[in-house]
Amino acid sequence: MSPETVASPNVIRDVPGQEHAAAFLARAAVHPHHAYLFTGPEGSGKRLGMRAFAAALLCPTGGCGGCRACRLALGERHPNMVMLEPAGPDILVGRDSADTNTARWLVGQAYLTPIEPGPKVMVVLQADRLRVEAADVLLKVLEEPPRDTVFILLSARPDEIPETVRSRCQEVPFPPLSESFVVETLVREGFPEDGARLACRLAGGNLGRARRIVRDEAGLGFRDAALEALETAGRGAAGPLAAAEKLTAAAKGFRASLGAELDEELSPYLDARGRPEDAYRGVVRRIQERHERRTRRAEREFLDSALLALSACYRDRVATAVGAGDVVINLDLAQAGLAGWSEGNAGQAMGAIEEARADLADETNLNPRLVLERMFLRLSALAA
Ligand SMILES: [Zn+2]
Repeated sequence: MSPETVASPNVIRDVPGQEHAAAFLARAAVHPHHAYLFTGPEGSGKRLGMRAFAAALLCPTGGCGGCRACRLALGERHPNMVMLEPAGPDILVGRDSADTNTARWLVGQAYLTPIEPGPKVMVVLQADRLRVEAADVLLKVLEEPPRDTVFILLSARPDEIPETVRSRCQEVPFPPLSESFVVETLVREGFPEDGARLACRLAGGNLGRARRIVRDEAGLGFRDAALEALETAGRGAAGPLAAAEKLTAAAKGFRASLGAELDEELSPYLDARGRPEDAYRGVVRRIQERHERRTRRAEREFLDSALLALSACYRDRVATAVGAGDVVINLDLAQAGLAGWSEGNAGQAMGAIEEARADLADETNLNPRLVLERMFLRLSALAA
C-alpha cells in the first residue's frame, strides 16, 4: 500500500462537498480514535461520511471502494457494523442486551467477538435522541472501549447530547452544502440545470432529496398532490375536508410503491430456499427493521414534503411581493394561483402550514388527516 492511498482512500475521496471532513477522516482512518461524533444538518452528508469511514476501517486495503468489504460497508450491510437507530421518539436504556435498538443492546454488541475478522464499527444514528439514562449506559462503554471498536455517533442537534458523551468523542463537522455545489453535482450527473436548481430549493439544499426529486418521474408528485389539494380546498364549504382526504390518499399510494425494494436488498443474504444464511441473520433482521420503519415513516415524509412545497408557494408569493424574485423556490410555477394574496395573509398561511408540519412530526399524533383538515380550513379562511 503506497502512502498516497493511505492518505486519501477512494471511498473517502467520494464524500461529496465536504473537503475538511474528508481530509480529517482520511487521516483518522489510519489510526482511529475510539469514538467520533459527526455533526451537521440533515442532508449535509453525515451518513455518506459514516459509510465511507466505515468502509475505510473495514476494507483490507484501507478503503479501495471496490472490494466486498467496501461494498457491504457502503451499503450499511457489513456484518461487523452495528447500527442503532431510534425505534420510537427516543433511544431507551433497554431491558437487557437482547432488547434491540436500545443502549444496553448496543453495549452488548460492542463486547461480542466480531462476525468477520477485523475491527467493529458501532453506529448511533440521531444520537441526540438518547435518553439521559441511555447516554449513561453508552458512556460506560466509551470510557472503557473494547479493543478494535470504533463508535460513530451522528447528530443534527449535537447540543442535545449530554456533555459527558460528547466530550468522549472527536467531533467532525459537516456544514450545510451550498446551493451551487448541489446544483453543480446534479448537472454533472446529467440533469438539466433548471430542474436541478428547482429540486435543490424544494429539498432545502439536501442533496439526496434533491437527487430523488430531479431523477424520479414521480419526484415532484408530492408537490403536484399538494397543489391539487390546495385547489380542491378552495371549492366551497366541503373543499378543505376533500383536500385533506386527497392528500392523505396520495401519501398512502406513495407508501404502497415502496414494497419491491426490500426483496432486492435482501437477496444477497438468502440461501436457495429464501432463508437467511446463519452468519447474516443479524444483517437480514436489520434490513427488515429498517424497511419497516421506512414504510411506516413514508406516509409522514410524503406529507411533510407536500407541506414544505405548499409553504414554498406562499413564501414565493411574499418574495415576489417584496421584489425579491431571485429567491423564488418554485421557479417553474407562475405564482401557483396565489397572485391575489397579500404578504400578510401569505405569511399567516405559512404559519398555519408550519404548525401542521410540527403536529405531523410528533409521532404520537395518530391522525394526520385531522391535522390536514384543520390546516386547509385555515388556508381557505385566509383566502376568503
Ligand atoms: Zn475495499
